[in-house]
Amino acid sequence: MNYRRLGETGLMVSEIGFGAEWMPGDDQEMVSELVGFAMEKGVNIVDCWMADPAVRKVLGNAVCAHRDKWIVQGHFGATWQNGQYTRTRDMDAVIPAWEELLSCFGGHIELGLIHFVDSLAEFDGIMAGPFIEYVRAEKGAGRIDHIGISTHNPEVALRAAETPDIEMIMFSINPAFDMLPASEELDDLFKEEYQPGLESMDPQRKRLYALCEENGVGITVMKPFAGGRLFSAEKSPFGVAMTPVQAVHYCLTRPAVASVLAGFRDVGECAGCLAYEGAGDEEKDYASILAGAPQHAYFGNCIYCGHCQPCTAGIDIATVNKYYDLAQMQDEVPASVRDHYLALEVRAGDCTGCAACEPNCPFGVPIAERMAEAAALFGA
Ligand code: SF4
Ligand code: SF4
Repeated sequence: MNYRRLGETGLMVSEIGFGAEWMPGDDQEMVSELVGFAMEKGVNIVDCWMADPAVRKVLGNAVCAHRDKWIVQGHFGATWQNGQYTRTRDMDAVIPAWEELLSCFGGHIELGLIHFVDSLAEFDGIMAGPFIEYVRAEKGAGRIDHIGISTHNPEVALRAAETPDIEMIMFSINPAFDMLPASEELDDLFKEEYQPGLESMDPQRKRLYALCEENGVGITVMKPFAGGRLFSAEKSPFGVAMTPVQAVHYCLTRPAVASVLAGFRDVGECAGCLAYEGAGDEEKDYASILAGAPQHAYFGNCIYCGHCQPCTAGIDIATVNKYYDLAQMQDEVPASVRDHYLALEVRAGDCTGCAACEPNCPFGVPIAERMAEAAALFGA
């Protein structure tokens, strides 16, 4: 395993990290096996943005078995309210959720991230109010070592990279997203078609990576595989399937990037990503893929990230969308997918069509419409 310096934090992180969002839920045995396998292979950084206390707990247990071997990214503002992930700036909710997260990882977290800020106005509000004061106090008390932020918007990331408090950024990087223009308007960011002439990296993103490199602001990467779509010729905007090795290499060849936090569901997927470490130049080469003309962006496609929560009806939107997509890939709805879907306590049929979730989706998914389609497909 190669290790890279995470900017001026000075931390040496494994270039392949663990984005734990995709781990097998709250199954302690499976999570411990996965965490142990990754650790044996040299992975030393893990992200825990997940808000569900049960999920945090099993990940914390697995990591705390060898706590000194891990660098943990924890998030301020990812909370669990009424059984759902809720992103909030309300300190009455932020503080208990953070304290509970800290307790899962032994009372100390190396990288404390301000969670999911995609608007410049929101960023400025955070940096001028009680949120950043609390984060600074946690650093002052030694409960975190460094302050970071997670964002999908290069303009927010650019501003963060010039803000003295912010020492590192968790940013969504993959070859498809990198071609899209920066904007605070999410609908502008994720258009259905690439703009004519937009055939290489967006200049704002290029500037971001250069600025981070210059300012010593390390980057950890989320969504390196665009939710798995880059692995499918039909779904990739390049019309050609990439391999995990090529996708990881793309991310690791951006300036300032220290670690790609890949999502592993099991040991096999972990091993697939770690194959990068032994891959030759030919296997890593992604140039021919990027040379293919982009056909479409991800506008309207769910990547199951869960950022649209909470739902006013209590629906787990990402899970419903996942089962819906799985069901649609077959001529008939597979019995296993139907069973899993019907086992959900709240289903698409419970959607009121309020659309409260839709502004939270960075990918412009017409969620209410999708819920109606899923309800019709599954009959519930
Ligand atoms: S539109 Fe449906 S899925 Fe979205 S918040 Fe409203 S009830 Fe929930
Ligand atoms: S609907 Fe949008 S925000 Fe929600 S899980 Fe899908 S991609 Fe993520």
